[in-house]
Amino acid sequence: MSTVQILENVQNFMNRSHGHFIHGKTVQNTHESRINIINPATEQRVATIADADQATVDQAVKSAHDAFVNAWASVSPYERSLKLNKLADLVEQHSEELAQLETLTSGKLIMISRHLEVAQTVIFLRHFASCATKIHGQTIQPSLPSMQGEKYTAVTLRQPVGVVAGIIPWNFSLMIGAWKIGSALTTGCTIVVKPSEFTSLSLLRLAELALKAGIPAGVINVVTGTGKTGQYLIDSPLVKKISFTGSVPTGISIGKQAMHNDLKRVSLELGGKNAAAILPDVSIDEILPLLIQSTFVHQGQVCAAPERFFVHQSKYDEFVEKAAQILKQLKIGSPLDESVVFGPLSNQPHFEKVKHYLKMAQDQIITGGHVIDTQGYFVEPTLVKVENIEDPLFIEETFGPIVTVIPFENEVELISMMNHSRFGLSASIWSNDLSKVFRLIPQIEAGSIWVNMHTFLDPAVPFGGVKASGVGREFSDAFIDDYTELKSVMIRY
Ligand code: NAD
Repeated sequence: MSTVQILENVQNFMNRSHGHFIHGKTVQNTHESRINIINPATEQRVATIADADQATVDQAVKSAHDAFVNAWASVSPYERSLKLNKLADLVEQHSEELAQLETLTSGKLIMISRHLEVAQTVIFLRHFASCATKIHGQTIQPSLPSMQGEKYTAVTLRQPVGVVAGIIPWNFSLMIGAWKIGSALTTGCTIVVKPSEFTSLSLLRLAELALKAGIPAGVINVVTGTGKTGQYLIDSPLVKKISFTGSVPTGISIGKQAMHNDLKRVSLELGGKNAAAILPDVSIDEILPLLIQSTFVHQGQVCAAPERFFVHQSKYDEFVEKAAQILKQLKIGSPLDESVVFGPLSNQPHFEKVKHYLKMAQDQIITGGHVIDTQGYFVEPTLVKVENIEDPLFIEETFGPIVTVIPFENEVELISMMNHSRFGLSASIWSNDLSKVFRLIPQIEAGSIWVNMHTFLDPAVPFGGVKASGVGREFSDAFIDDYTELKSVMIRY
């Protein structure tokens, strides 16, 4: 066992009396109530944060608006790119500190915090930095009739929408925060970020690093608080776009609220009940290690991770037996122990939700299914068989380490069962039969499809859901539409 020593600056940061980060400074509004930040591995309080009220949100939004008009608008695309790259450098230099903050507040394994959360934050920031100089309109030849020899031409401009509100879930605060910050800043927008009330510390620290990177005060603001704080942000007239990542019910409520606010722009990255289809040609021994790793990363608390396995009936018994063997051997324990591969759930309400599903699954459990009798929010990685596709365990997103498995007979049945879901975030097909794979891909209702892999996000590849899994796309250059207004100009000469 090798347990990580908490850095002195991490300890000092947690001990601070945290406020909000507004216009380059920590702002404390002493009348606001405090929210406890709990380490999910120990159930101990490690810090407190402020619960922003309306006045604080207004202050943050005004700061972002002033910075949009007076500071960021005059920063050239090239300079925006340099500053985002500088921020990426600073995140890299402070990677251990940020990784520890994430692990202490989200229960993410330290190796995942280091090599996924923080490392990907750097990679994504650099991707967004590279986009700043590539945002452009078009030149168009209109078809208007020319009566007296006049000519016409048209151009389109892309202009930043203005102040963006980024609302973030608790599973990958820093990385998802960087998606919103990077998208906003590279397109010339400014942002107010509201992290989850469970995991706000890493983004508060990132905002400080942004100032060091030369990003002007007010361009990035962070307000902490609950859903109410998010609602104040959506209602603020100076906020022109909401970029939300979180659950479907919250997403629907935010979408409605945004529409009531004069059709405010909104992009929604929501939940999933993602399918992994295991076709008859694969070797179960070959695919299982990667499939299990992609499924149970961060204890299954990953929006794109699979929660439904579909296994061809010829391989079903072998799959179930071997998957159970691997799951039984996963070492469960402290996320600060570098040898552990399965840590706690991230927070108490989520622990209660997962326990509810475990109870529901009791008669169907293949392996796992228990709450671990110790301090912290620990449960076993669990595989559950389902016989009926109306089973709530097959239908509802658990967002935890509970995966259902069901056999299929042929591809028609497979597609019908895979698409039997209100969600459509991601799916995977495990097969070396390319002809079959390419015939299945267009039939699957999901925004991302992986072949012989699952849960891999890359900044160059668009990401987002269909059906109730969301509206809009992140990454690549697909995000640019959502953060800019397209203005058309027609000229007669
Ligand atoms: P959540 O919807 O409960 O909360 C997300 C954020 O919204 C938090 O910051 C929360 O304080 C805020 N919020 C809550 N109610 C609000 C309201 N009425 N108005 C404005 N803001 C409000 O989600 P969660 O439990 O933090 O995260 C887990 C969910 O996120 C899962 O469903 C998961 O699938 C989804 N998720 C999706 C993606 C994706 O990219 N598609 C990525 C990560 C997580």
